[in-house]
Amino acid sequence: MIEKMPIGGGHIHMSPEEIDEWYDRIKSEHEMFLSKYGVKLPARNSAEALWLVFLRKHLGKAVHKDTISSFVHTVRVDFGKDQQVRHLAEKGWYVLNKGEKIPNSEDLVVSGYHVLFSMESPKPTFIFKSLKRAGRIGARNFEELKAVYDFRCATCGSKENCPNFLEPDKKTTLQRGHMNPHKSLTSENTIPQCQVCNGIYLDDYVFDEKGRVKAVASVRPVLRSEREVQEEIKKKLQELSG
Ligand SMILES: [Zn+2]
Repeated sequence: MIEKMPIGGGHIHMSPEEIDEWYDRIKSEHEMFLSKYGVKLPARNSAEALWLVFLRKHLGKAVHKDTISSFVHTVRVDFGKDQQVRHLAEKGWYVLNKGEKIPNSEDLVVSGYHVLFSMESPKPTFIFKSLKRAGRIGARNFEELKAVYDFRCATCGSKENCPNFLEPDKKTTLQRGHMNPHKSLTSENTIPQCQVCNGIYLDDYVFDEKGRVKAVASVRPVLRSEREVQEEIKKKLQELSG
């Protein structure tokens, strides 16, 4: 079970020095882990910064919004009693709000509480949004590349862990597909493909970033083609080499 901080009590008070120390810590963690995703650091002593200070001090614990509001009020009497802490999540901070599952546990966050789960990663939904903005170049590993593609096969659109569009009795697994099978499987040359597409196309085709066939990568599709097409290809190649 996740620890719940009491709503009232001495922990609501923090000295200005302590607040500054926590803010500095948040600032360096933000620089190291979060700014590259486009998470913005709120200005020192702003309401948002104070929410983060309190949540950071009690990282991984459930803190009631009234506790945070009371804390903010001790620092800045001009700030209201009803602080909207849940908005931190939309801005990318890994804050879990009401009804959200706490990773690696079965617990859900109960109404009125917030949990700052990690400083080393933005909120996963925010990562996916920022990856979608950045596109393929933003992805640093296969998981993130899959996120760019909304966890779908680039070629047929089947969604990971859901029934496959081409073979509905199978659950879709996404594999690293070559865009160009003659080149090594670097991230620039990878698209997520379902096990069915990856199997059908073998190493016979070159794909574009959207998973569409762009060229042949072996003679096999030509040999399977109709006689007329083969003749046409032969003629065209002779023209080109002649
Ligand atoms: Zn597919």
